[in-house]
Amino acid sequence: MSPRPGPHAVDLIRGKREGRELETDQLHALIGGYLAGEVGDEQMAAFLMAVCWRGMTARELSAWTGAMLESGLRLDLDEVGRPTVDKHSTGGVGDKVSLVLVPLVAACGAAVPQLSGRGLGHTGGTLDKLEVIPGWQSELSSERIVSQLREVGCVICAAGQELVPADRRLYALRDVTATVESIPLIASSIISKKVAEGTRALLLDVKVGSGAFMKDVTSARELAQTMVGLGASYGVRTSAWLTSMDVPLGRAVGNAVELLEALDVLAGGGPDDLRQLALQEAREMLRLVRIDADPELALRDGSAARVFREMVMAQGGDPDAPLPRGASLALVRAPGDGFLQRLDALAVGTAAWRLGAGRARQGDPVSATAGVLCLVKPGETVAAGQPVLELLGDDPARLPAALAALEGAIQVGPNRPLPHRLDLVRLPAP
Ligand code: URA
Repeated sequence: MSPRPGPHAVDLIRGKREGRELETDQLHALIGGYLAGEVGDEQMAAFLMAVCWRGMTARELSAWTGAMLESGLRLDLDEVGRPTVDKHSTGGVGDKVSLVLVPLVAACGAAVPQLSGRGLGHTGGTLDKLEVIPGWQSELSSERIVSQLREVGCVICAAGQELVPADRRLYALRDVTATVESIPLIASSIISKKVAEGTRALLLDVKVGSGAFMKDVTSARELAQTMVGLGASYGVRTSAWLTSMDVPLGRAVGNAVELLEALDVLAGGGPDDLRQLALQEAREMLRLVRIDADPELALRDGSAARVFREMVMAQGGDPDAPLPRGASLALVRAPGDGFLQRLDALAVGTAAWRLGAGRARQGDPVSATAGVLCLVKPGETVAAGQPVLELLGDDPARLPAALAALEGAIQVGPNRPLPHRLDLVRLPAP
């Protein structure tokens, strides 16, 4: 479709602002014109803000996603020789599940092409965690991705520039114009990248709670349903879990510390919540591609850990290299005796971010060693003065801002809180 929207961009912005449904060719022309430099950042920003207020109809969403897909290449994974399945998490605090899940599902016989982005704000990014491993490379050519999938069964790498370039431009603009939090914009951004990477099946982990994009179950369910429908409309067998993100997942938040915790799970140990979520997601991914295998066995017999090592080595990393550890900068202590009732995910994620584990703008560097260890989790007993959190890092000047983020994050009470449920709602693929 030829990008000729220049003089009409204002009409399209006005149409969306007034709640009119736009035509497929108009949406293609808008994205095409933006990439061609005929629609300005200010015009696209105005359009995105109108979408935030007015939403998109199903037809508009499909057309918008199609236009994003058309902006780049699509990987062809037909030669991989195994069924392909990926997962996407909308992002949480301490969410290192992919580091366990990707090799685990590959060890069970599927191919997992995880083309990933970097962390932004208080949620970490899988690539940032893997980059702690000396020598590990995130940038792979399409040929390398396909050959690694064939030989190892999985890959976690950066989505190349040629995959949905429209999303790269739009996401950077959304990030600085307060237009990230829109269900059609999030759904089109995520699903276009997954369709372009060539996976035939997809599990979505939509996080709900204080540490997530989606703070309530209703909006998380709407996002999940939108993405399940959109994925299916592009021939990707898609299902979704809504999982809780009120409390950090596992005990480690940060890059090196999360990698170490994921390695513990792959070695058969690690925190129970992380292990259970990884197994639950692995079972669902295997169900999507109709592989009858027991992921628990792949953790127990070491095959998942072996695939992780092979994946790291295939990407130039040394799986035996010692990982850096941050200096202990401070301890946050329990205010009284009792049960830990609450450990707020957003506060812990923000503290780790301010210590240097996360970035404020795309392209900022991150610290390998900064982070927060949760020494006590909700439901466990504490005594007054007992350390609950340990703050790690390489820059003590960052400590006051991190400690400020944690004010009010810890609550201790006399009663044992209800067990924390991780899985809230499941939206199965048809
Ligand atoms: N993650 C994405 O990839 N895109 C969004 O719009 C939001 C989260």
